Amino acid sequence: MSSSNSLKKKFSSEKKKIAASNTNSVVRTRFDKVLSQKFSSDGSLYGKSILIKDNIAIKDEELTCASNLLKSYKSPYNATVIDRLNDASAAITGQTNMDEFAMGSSSEYSLYGSVKNPYDLKRVAGGSSGGSAAAVSEGLCDIALGSDTGGSVRQPAAFCGIYGLKPTYGRVSRYGLVSHASSFDTIGILSKNISDMVDVFSVIAGFDSKDATSSKEKVLNKKYYHQHGLPKNVGILKREVLSDVDNEIVENYDIILDFLRKNKVNLVEIELPYFEYCIATYYILTMAEASSNLSRFDGIRYGSREKASNLDTTYTQSRSKGFGPEVKRRIITGTYILSSGYYDAYYSKALKVRRLIKEEYNKLFSKLDCIFIPTTASPSFHLKANLDDPMKMYLSDMFTVPVNLIGSPSLNIPGGETKKNLPIGFQIVGDSFKEETLFRFAHSLERAKLFE
Ligand code: GLN
Repeated sequence: MSSSNSLKKKFSSEKKKIAASNTNSVVRTRFDKVLSQKFSSDGSLYGKSILIKDNIAIKDEELTCASNLLKSYKSPYNATVIDRLNDASAAITGQTNMDEFAMGSSSEYSLYGSVKNPYDLKRVAGGSSGGSAAAVSEGLCDIALGSDTGGSVRQPAAFCGIYGLKPTYGRVSRYGLVSHASSFDTIGILSKNISDMVDVFSVIAGFDSKDATSSKEKVLNKKYYHQHGLPKNVGILKREVLSDVDNEIVENYDIILDFLRKNKVNLVEIELPYFEYCIATYYILTMAEASSNLSRFDGIRYGSREKASNLDTTYTQSRSKGFGPEVKRRIITGTYILSSGYYDAYYSKALKVRRLIKEEYNKLFSKLDCIFIPTTASPSFHLKANLDDPMKMYLSDMFTVPVNLIGSPSLNIPGGETKKNLPIGFQIVGDSFKEETLFRFAHSLERAKLFE
């Protein structure tokens, strides 16, 4: 069979799987376009199918961010990551469900309805890239892209039992990613194995002149990311903090730590710097940034327009009808945070705290190769469990948001399951631009097969 025939067979089987899936993870497919596309077998991602979170621009495709406000918007251009994936012969087979404008931790705040966890349909897939995580986990594609502002790639990856990478801030171009909080946003990768992850990272990472925050830091040759090797000095969570973590997660954490000790890795118990201030700092800064970023969605420049007698009412009605409750909550709170009189009390104070947190982590990384901690404090929760309690929803990110405050890379790795067969995830957090440490560590743990 020629390779194009085997590709066709693969796509048609994935199309059927997506149609039969009941997780609500994929919002639209583009197999018609993919089937008429010519792929060069020289491309490093030849034969790989990739689903894209619905907040990353694909030319001539809808780009809704799961929001009523953008439900008929089509993107006139490609995000840089899409151009790079196309150049590497990847097949972009569709788009995934998410929390509206990537604000959430459960993928329940969506125009398309909630994403469900493939391990238990009564539970959430995590958020906000829940559609991407569930789709990879169920085998609806090989790889998916998501976005991670405060944990939105790693937390759903943990809940769905797969790998999820948040690269260093500035490592992957944000050009074509709809902004949530620009100084935090990163495009991330979700995959079933570390090899696919490395292959996609090598394609999408690297400087892009279209993104002013993109870094010129060198991306290594792919072969260095494919090596395995345990780090020498690893920071681990103090026992006191583990008392807030689900018992079964702690049990599996200990299994991995025992393996590391046996392999002569030096484990150092650490405090996560200013841990109790991270959630507040994160939400003050991201809500402020979001309120400013989302001002363009006014029914005139972008978004569906409500007809009204004057401009102000057109703005108000378009935004009131278009945005869902969580997005409104953040725009209102963010506007308040930035208003005169409160700016100094909240916004500029949070910026200073962010700087202090970063300095403390720099000290840790001067002695440690990486930090190894749980990604979440509990496995996936039930649908609707946190919906009317935003504080509870925000607290579910307590182990992921510190990493976005400091800009470091972090990789969720699958770490076994609970007795109820719910996946558990751990994250490897590294120093900025040292993704190779994460990949090598993950390759070694993947080989060790500790939970099979
Ligand atoms: N759950 C976090 C929030 O709602 C993270 C979102 C994200 O990473 N996009 O802000």
